[in-house]
Amino acid sequence: MPFSTLNLSSTLQKTLQDKGFKKPTPIQEKVIPLVLNNKDVIAQAQTGSGKSASFVLPLLQLWSQKRDNAKKGKIKILVLTPTRELTLQVAEVFEEFSKDLAKKPQIVSLIGGESIGEQLYNIQQGCDVLVATSGRFLDVLKKKQMNLSHLNYLVLDEADKMLNFDFTEELDLVLESLPAKRQNLLFSATYPPKMLDLVSKIMSNPLHVTI
Ligand code: AMP
Repeated sequence: MPFSTLNLSSTLQKTLQDKGFKKPTPIQEKVIPLVLNNKDVIAQAQTGSGKSASFVLPLLQLWSQKRDNAKKGKIKILVLTPTRELTLQVAEVFEEFSKDLAKKPQIVSLIGGESIGEQLYNIQQGCDVLVATSGRFLDVLKKKQMNLSHLNYLVLDEADKMLNFDFTEELDLVLESLPAKRQNLLFSATYPPKMLDLVSKIMSNPLHVTI
């Protein structure tokens, strides 16, 4: 199945071609159409399966379509990850796939070890896509200077690894700061019982995808 059957914009298809991506991986084939149809999705996928592009591509497309100048530079897409490496990697995938878009999103990553003040300043200067480690995200959130009221899309990447952090305990704090109406995507290599609680709090009628 070629990428052209997935309803991605011609701009994104061209970027895929330039990157040498010839056809979607199985996870991309299943997840991209569901995200474009505004579904909440739980995808069981390992690192290396092409999972990053399976949410980055459709979210960039939805973001481009939804763009509304009054809300320019407000956080619309939030991706939470368990590690700094994954945060930087996902932010890079957003950058790579944004390169040909007529209007490029501002992408900010939040990782530990850098000044919170500086990170908040970067967000306040304009941020459409925020990619953050869950720990640092909570630290910044508690400063109560981050406006998430325009958020449309929440992604939890490698969610099983986030279950080990304080994240589950502080989940209510995160959810209180997000609009109730949003699209949620959860990626996880495993699906331990503890995940059910997380899923029931975050998602609405999610569709399950396994590969
Ligand atoms: P991920 O699982 O998202 O970390 O992706 C693993 C690797 O596969 C990355 O280096 C991607 O650039 C690459 N990749 C993802 N999707 C495709 C595709 N459809 N065709 C070729 N390479 C891909």
